[in-house]
Amino acid sequence: MNELTDLTIAEALAGLKNKKFSATELTKAYLNKMEEGRRFNAYVLETPEIALKAAEKADKNYASGTARLLEGIPLGIKDLFCTKGIRTTACSHIIDNFIPPYESTVTQRLFDAGASCLGKLSMDEFAMGGSNENSCFGPVINPWSKDKNLVPGGSSGGSAAAVCAGMCAGATGTDTGGSIRQPAAFCGITGMKPTYGRCSRYGIMAFASSLDQAGPMGKDVRDCALLLNVMAGYDEKDSTSVRKEVPDFTKVLGQNVQGLKIGIPAEYRPDGLSKEISEAWDKAAAILKAHGAEIVNISLPHTKYALPVYYIIAPAEASSNLARYDGVRYGNRVEGASISDLYVNTRSAGFGKEVKRRIMVGTYVLSAGYYDAYYVKAQKVRRLIQNDFKEAFKLCDVILTPTSPVTAFQIGDKSMAENPINMYLNDIFTVSVNLAGLPAMSLPIGLSSDGLPLGMQLIGRAFDEETVFKAGYVLEQDAGFKRK
Ligand code: GLN
Repeated sequence: MNELTDLTIAEALAGLKNKKFSATELTKAYLNKMEEGRRFNAYVLETPEIALKAAEKADKNYASGTARLLEGIPLGIKDLFCTKGIRTTACSHIIDNFIPPYESTVTQRLFDAGASCLGKLSMDEFAMGGSNENSCFGPVINPWSKDKNLVPGGSSGGSAAAVCAGMCAGATGTDTGGSIRQPAAFCGITGMKPTYGRCSRYGIMAFASSLDQAGPMGKDVRDCALLLNVMAGYDEKDSTSVRKEVPDFTKVLGQNVQGLKIGIPAEYRPDGLSKEISEAWDKAAAILKAHGAEIVNISLPHTKYALPVYYIIAPAEASSNLARYDGVRYGNRVEGASISDLYVNTRSAGFGKEVKRRIMVGTYVLSAGYYDAYYVKAQKVRRLIQNDFKEAFKLCDVILTPTSPVTAFQIGDKSMAENPINMYLNDIFTVSVNLAGLPAMSLPIGLSSDGLPLGMQLIGRAFDEETVFKAGYVLEQDAGFKRK
């Protein structure tokens, strides 16, 4: 048999049920992998005692026939989710010794369903970034790296690297502008950003509240469906979570895509898009076509404004959300002669460079005199971007695009480090989805000529994750991608 850590969640659940192995054995296998994989720097905190205790309980529940949906499945948790009694830092020095007295709704649901916590996973500080280089615990290494160390993507880079290297059965991520999908693409795993409002944001440290969504990151499409089944659902503690029934997302896996209309947006093939990514995109469309889907050309004309709009709205909301880390209400205090010195000292010492940059941009676009010129205009264009999708979904049922215009790049890549705009440009294919609040998945479709994973994105109508899962499953079956 393969190693236990090679099993998908679906396979592990079957093995546990049939007593092929115990939850304790499964958990120990993952703990071993975590030890072997420490050089990847994916975990910022390991919680083996908690995982083993949960495994013991899981084994009892299997023995007594009372196993729950995810009984005995060991997960890694992005360090943006508050976990009761377990240090949660957002990978920021400003809050690096915070032990939450409460649990986020999403992790509570996972643990109530029998999943366990192996530890907390690294990320870009407060989820700002696309390479995981902005973590106060140092960069995470992409397990696909060969001679040079590559980034795992971000901001959920620890989650993607851990799933990829078999250091957890699945992980939680959050996605404000691509932070589930882009690292999934860079690490050759599958990630799903649900519709805005599908999962509760309660207990997840806020970056940009109108864009943030939690979602699953897993070894394959089915595992993401299994995890989302549990994570999703209305929560009275989050007024933006939506009172809508959560279907069983695994039901659509294996259903045919005959007659399904697949939209290909012209604007997602900019000049200079690499030939490899372009070809992978064609290959994905050809697979769906061979299964009877219809390919339709669509247009999302406001795509060119998506990045500027996102990089106004996200920092604006972030600057407001992060105001609470002032050394009085939250955050490690650095004393000062006056209250304003205390604020300045606290925030200067606690926040990293990128977070400071976003706060500066955010307060600027919200300031009197510039508010109308930037923020109000950005909100208007956001509506136009939403309308683009509305129009497009009159012609198609799901949209197919690449996840990222690039594959995993080197840690410390100069062109990125010296000019933040270059880093922001990588988000071109993902941010529109958050601005419109839509569900979207990234899954691996193949390898580049230098042996790195290429990710494809499927975007659905609001609350139609099912079509995304259905089409994603068909793609996955035929793409023949070999997991690391
Ligand atoms: N890379 C994007 C940013 O830096 C997206 C981050 C995210 O989705 N959390 O804002």
